[in-house]
Amino acid sequence: MATATATIDLNAIKQNWQKLRSMSRNDTAAVVKANAYGLGIKQVAKALYDEGARLFFVATAEEGAELRSILGKIPEIYIFSGHMVGDTELIRNYNLIPLINSIEQLSRQSQLLKEKKFGVQLDTGMNRLGIEPMEWETVKEFTLSLNPVLIMSHLACADEPGHKMNTTQLNTFRTLTDKINIKKSLAATGGILLGPEYHFDLTRPGIGIYGCSPMKNCLPVLKIEIPVIQIRDIKSGETVGYGNTWTSTSKKRIATISAGYADGIFRVVGQRTKLYFKEIGCPIVGRISMDLIGVDITRLNMDPDKLELINSLQTIDKIAEGAGTIGYEFLTSLGHRYNRKYTSETV
Ligand SMILES: *Cc1c(COP(=O)(O)O)cnc(C)c1O
Repeated sequence: MATATATIDLNAIKQNWQKLRSMSRNDTAAVVKANAYGLGIKQVAKALYDEGARLFFVATAEEGAELRSILGKIPEIYIFSGHMVGDTELIRNYNLIPLINSIEQLSRQSQLLKEKKFGVQLDTGMNRLGIEPMEWETVKEFTLSLNPVLIMSHLACADEPGHKMNTTQLNTFRTLTDKINIKKSLAATGGILLGPEYHFDLTRPGIGIYGCSPMKNCLPVLKIEIPVIQIRDIKSGETVGYGNTWTSTSKKRIATISAGYADGIFRVVGQRTKLYFKEIGCPIVGRISMDLIGVDITRLNMDPDKLELINSLQTIDKIAEGAGTIGYEFLTSLGHRYNRKYTSETV
């Protein structure tokens, strides 16, 4: 089989969530948007539910409907994008909780889903989603009369603990929600690490569950193994891959492995990324193609039948950094082609 394998450690996911929970002052939700950051919402959400998670956040009503079908009636499912045109039936039928982020959404919610649960999203400075402080002044009373179940905002710089934006947003959130006796939420993974004054009633970690930065001391969740399709010897002066961008300066043994940029291994990862056989790292040579990558395996004294891209020696964060990106983007870019295997054993 030429398909690469992504092994996902559900036990590590559970333990990472428990760790975030133990660090949080009050309730801890789980963010499983974008197919649980690319790892598979069905298996990941079930594992977290088994571990005791009862509050989930997703990006869209469609994701919420899917999650409801997976987890059944009990958990609360919050929708970050709120109540968009066309969402009304999904929100009603799947009992979702939209996080209303504009006056337009507020009037839609109050007209079409009166008496249904909803939350409010305030903008405290990120300028991405949420009701603006000035607008909040004008709609606060009306909104509160509809009994929202949650008031939340999102931090722009929580992964930089020393950034002054954090305290600015904290103070703005406090001012906007002062004397309001409704559940409040401000912190995602980074906010949990900033300390208890950021936690309020509910934290909303995502990336920490999946074992990536800014979370620290968490368990790795993913291993990626890629089959070797062909191995060949080349002479000094021969080239490998599209565009002849790499020329061998000596005799080399080259393996061609079965994955490429269609699997989220973007061409820019090439320079600094290695493929591992046990603890031996072998460099990528030549351009990464859509489905194939050349690897210099000269250092190995045998022919491997597969090589590892992600393991404890080369973490998601390390690959992401080498490619000038972040773990979030690497994970959600993995694509559909991997054979995803779920295990409770350490990966
Ligand atoms: C994605 C997201 C989260 C989770 O953030 P992490 O950094 O992955 O923990 C929390 N809240 C909002 C509004 C989000 O968009």
